Amino acid sequence: MSGKDPELSRLGEALSSARSAYAAAKKTTDETKARLNQTGSMIQTFNAKIAELKKGIDSEYNAMRSERAGGDRNAADGHREAAQSMQEKLTEIYESKKTCFTELDEARAAFNKALDSQKILRDKVQEAWDSFNARLEFLKTENAKEQAKWKEKPCRICGVPIRYNVEWKHIPNLCKDCFDKDKLNWEDRVCAKCGKTFRINKSWEHIPTICGDCRKTVKAEKAAKIQAEKAAAEEEAKQAEEERQAAASALVEVANEAMSEEMPVAEE
Ligand SMILES: [Zn+2]
Ligand SMILES: [Zn+2]
Repeated sequence: MSGKDPELSRLGEALSSARSAYAAAKKTTDETKARLNQTGSMIQTFNAKIAELKKGIDSEYNAMRSERAGGDRNAADGHREAAQSMQEKLTEIYESKKTCFTELDEARAAFNKALDSQKILRDKVQEAWDSFNARLEFLKTENAKEQAKWKEKPCRICGVPIRYNVEWKHIPNLCKDCFDKDKLNWEDRVCAKCGKTFRINKSWEHIPTICGDCRKTVKAEKAAKIQAEKAAAEEEAKQAEEERQAAASALVEVANEAMSEEMPVAEE
């Protein structure tokens, strides 16, 4: 499924190139981070050296003062010279440290820049992932819909399941084997009524002797005949009812007349 959809392939390629770009950016970030750490540790080394020299200078001056107080000028000078040479060394280290700070600023800027690009590329990877997954989900749903269109039913002759798609224009009733065998059952016949050729299947229970068109005509004629007979019977029944009612009302009239003749006439 995934291999067949060109859109999914395209999204897959976009995802893998977004990942490569991210990996390259991450490598750059790591490199700039290493440079930053290295510069940071150089500064720490300088700081340690500076602290050590300061301590040395202090102790040389203290020694110088105590020698001076003790009256040993030569020893005092020796300590002063040592302190001065340490001071020179300290100045040199301060210079180196200053240069190192410039390097630190540059390294930090490079690291931040690399980190920003890495973040942007990480978002792009996420976007590519989302698009890829959305397409995959869409295809899964489509596939499920497509699968739902496939159904099975038994072959009308042998009963083996036939797989068919509900969207097919002609859904078969027979399996492939039965269909091929059934082909031999079909034969041409000549209509007994109109003489036209029509096809019959020898497996049918009732094999017609007339063609489909004639069967339709016969059926229609039969229906018309039944309809006419029904109408005639209804008409006959209606007439009989009318006659019966006429006879009944005639009887009533005769009876009324007979009654009035029998009525006694009032005498004055
Ligand atoms: Zn079959
Ligand atoms: Zn016919």
